[in-house]
Amino acid sequence: MIQSVETHGTLAEAQRAMGADAIFMAGGTLVMRDVNAGVSATRLVRSTDPTLTDIRLSGDGVTIGAGVTMATIAHHRETTFLAPVARAVGGPQIRNMATVGGNLFAPHPYGDFAVALLALGARVNFAGQSGAARPLADVLRDRGRVGLVASIQAPRPLAAADFAFLKVSRIKPKGVSVLSIAALLPRQGGRIRGARVAFGAMGSMPLQSTAVERVLEGQSLDTATIARAAQIALEGLDPPTDALASAWYRREVAGVHLKRLLERMARG
Ligand SMILES: Cc1cc2nc3c(=O)[nH]c(=O)nc-3n(C[C@H](O)[C@H](O)[C@H](O)COP(=O)(O)OP(=O)(O)OC[C@H]3O[C@@H](n4cnc5c(N)ncnc54)[C@H](O)[C@@H]3O)c2cc1C
Repeated sequence: MIQSVETHGTLAEAQRAMGADAIFMAGGTLVMRDVNAGVSATRLVRSTDPTLTDIRLSGDGVTIGAGVTMATIAHHRETTFLAPVARAVGGPQIRNMATVGGNLFAPHPYGDFAVALLALGARVNFAGQSGAARPLADVLRDRGRVGLVASIQAPRPLAAADFAFLKVSRIKPKGVSVLSIAALLPRQGGRIRGARVAFGAMGSMPLQSTAVERVLEGQSLDTATIARAAQIALEGLDPPTDALASAWYRREVAGVHLKRLLERMARG
């Protein structure tokens, strides 16, 4: 049972205050649910570090503080390419609280924003970190063992049509994911260079699809390429069964929705 709530002025202090008896809370949309259900931790740790809510341009990318909310992403001029993704997370009340950092740790079937960041090849900065930012794919694999996330660096697509996100849910507009897909397909002379594709709710965490990326790389986004990508969509994915959909259903529809997303990107 939680016995104290500690608020620290810097994320580094919050990091030092963490321990086996503590939970870090950002927007609290998931943490407070767990607290109400009863958790073994006795301390809630928060941080009011102002850098957590920064959004700033860095080179050809954008650095987003871990405490930036989905509502801010949806309206900020530097993150317009991510606005449709942020708007797909929960309803307005959830978006006002839900943070980008919290989304990286949200269990299945949550983590829609993390799917988009994975497709973008985002990198993660941690509190008190001195070295280079870590690739998000590594951080997702190590989720239980990483420290506090300070910010996320994401490249900005050169053209709006290079990046797309699709979420399938049973309840519209604010249901959770049956599955989600994000793709970054930069094109040079009509050919895809640097394909990145990620799936959500098709495994225990957001998954990058290197099989689909291989099919798309160097190709033009024509009917034959899209058909080949859709055919191989399931490779490397391991969808679970839950209250929203069975693993069988997720397998049946993954290729169909990938095809729709790629067709939308082909139209520009
Ligand atoms: C009704 C409802 C609907 C929802 N709908 C969606 C949806 O459609 N799509 C979706 O993706 N999610 C959804 N969620 C889940 C959740 O709201 C989001 O994933 C949100 O982004 C989590 O962020 P948070 O700040 O609220 O996290 P918190 O609840 O504060 O924390 C969640 C986890 O992340 C950890 N954490 C938070 N910040 C950091 C940090 N900086 N560094 C390290 N660890 C950190 C916490 O310790 C905790 O383990 C929904 C939740 C609810 C209750």
